[in-house]
Amino acid sequence: MVDTLTAEDLDFDRQHIWHPYTSMTNCYEMYPVTRADGVRLTLADGRQLIDGMASWWSAIHGYNHPVLNHALQQQLEKMAHVMFGGITHQPAIQLAKQLIDMTPEPLQQVFFADSGSVSVEVAIKMAIQYWVAAGQPKKKRLLTVKKGYHGDTFAPMSVCDPEGMHEHFAGMLLDNYFVEAPQCGFHENWQEDYIAEFKATLEQHHQAIAAVILEPIVQNAGGMRFYSPAYLKRVRELCDEYQVLLILDEIATGFGRSGKLFACEYADTSPDIMCVGKALTGGYMTLAATLCTQQVAHTISSHGVLMHGPTFMANPLACSVASASLQLLQLGHWQAQVVQLAATMEASLAPCRAFANVVDVRVLGAIGVVELAQPVDMKVIQPLFVEAGVWVRPFGKLVYIMPPYIMEQEDCQLLCKAIYQVVSKLNKV
Ligand SMILES: *Cc1c(COP(=O)(O)O)cnc(C)c1O
Repeated sequence: MVDTLTAEDLDFDRQHIWHPYTSMTNCYEMYPVTRADGVRLTLADGRQLIDGMASWWSAIHGYNHPVLNHALQQQLEKMAHVMFGGITHQPAIQLAKQLIDMTPEPLQQVFFADSGSVSVEVAIKMAIQYWVAAGQPKKKRLLTVKKGYHGDTFAPMSVCDPEGMHEHFAGMLLDNYFVEAPQCGFHENWQEDYIAEFKATLEQHHQAIAAVILEPIVQNAGGMRFYSPAYLKRVRELCDEYQVLLILDEIATGFGRSGKLFACEYADTSPDIMCVGKALTGGYMTLAATLCTQQVAHTISSHGVLMHGPTFMANPLACSVASASLQLLQLGHWQAQVVQLAATMEASLAPCRAFANVVDVRVLGAIGVVELAQPVDMKVIQPLFVEAGVWVRPFGKLVYIMPPYIMEQEDCQLLCKAIYQVVSKLNKV
């Protein structure tokens, strides 16, 4: 069935609506989607695309899921929203219990935020307030690695890759410390040299550093790089040695994507503060959370209150669907699904290595990456993917996928085959 979206509607969209990272005068074509079911998006003209993006890491159980729909409908009949100041409710309590249960043991306190970026803002505020309360107010800055991505608001921008997407704001961002991105690949043998610059920076500046912030094991939107768990282990040890808090941003990696429920499990370690988001609601609604240890929470609280409180904090609809999504995860099928997806992507993306314009093909958990020698031209590559029947949205030199966990092997093979065909076409031009 063809949807009622008209050419005029699309023209209106082009002239009046910002899309992520777009220009209002030099627009890309926008593809109108009218339905999403399982692992497929339906376009207004009736075509169906196999979705390789899971709506930016989030739709892990697929679209239009009966269990998630049911949870939302049930909650909607009771209340869509109520303020969280001075009021509490079952959906928030239930979800907090589940999060505390699933995440590493030391994380015992939960702050509900309305997006990933806001959860990172809150994590940074927690770290700064912690040191004020602990009598060390000079510890205000952050230490991180290059090639990271932590969100688009100002504090997260100040710890994103300085050569990345936020260069327009140079000079306006908090002045933080950066060291080279981790150089030890996921499967590589560890050498203490790999942590030397990080250690030297901590040694020299720890009195000014409140926290280290990292994406554990997988650097996501900053470069799709996988690094050694040994690096993270050493970071944890050095943070303890130099009295600096560790914030782990699990917004992209959390809830199974890396092959572990949380990527920090690869290093058998846990942070003082952790951010989760993206897949938290199974891709249904915007919700994120910042968890911290009792030590962090109680120290901050000995000196006043945590200064944050968004209007839509702990929205009951979002909490109820998140709760249902975590229950689906707790059934445990995700583990075998992610292993299967990894094996299929490994096998089906491997032929891309033969192309001259391909620098690297790598897979970890349910994340598959084909790194090209040159940045792609989105105006060329996006229509090629749609013609090939898949939804893949590259950035820079990276063609990458993170399918819904429920994707059948056959669909995953089709998805990878489409990537092979498109990359092969680019290789010829
Ligand atoms: C997407 C992302 C964010 C930002 O989350 P939003 O919900 O887009 O604000 C932060 N950190 C990481 C690692 C992410 O992948």
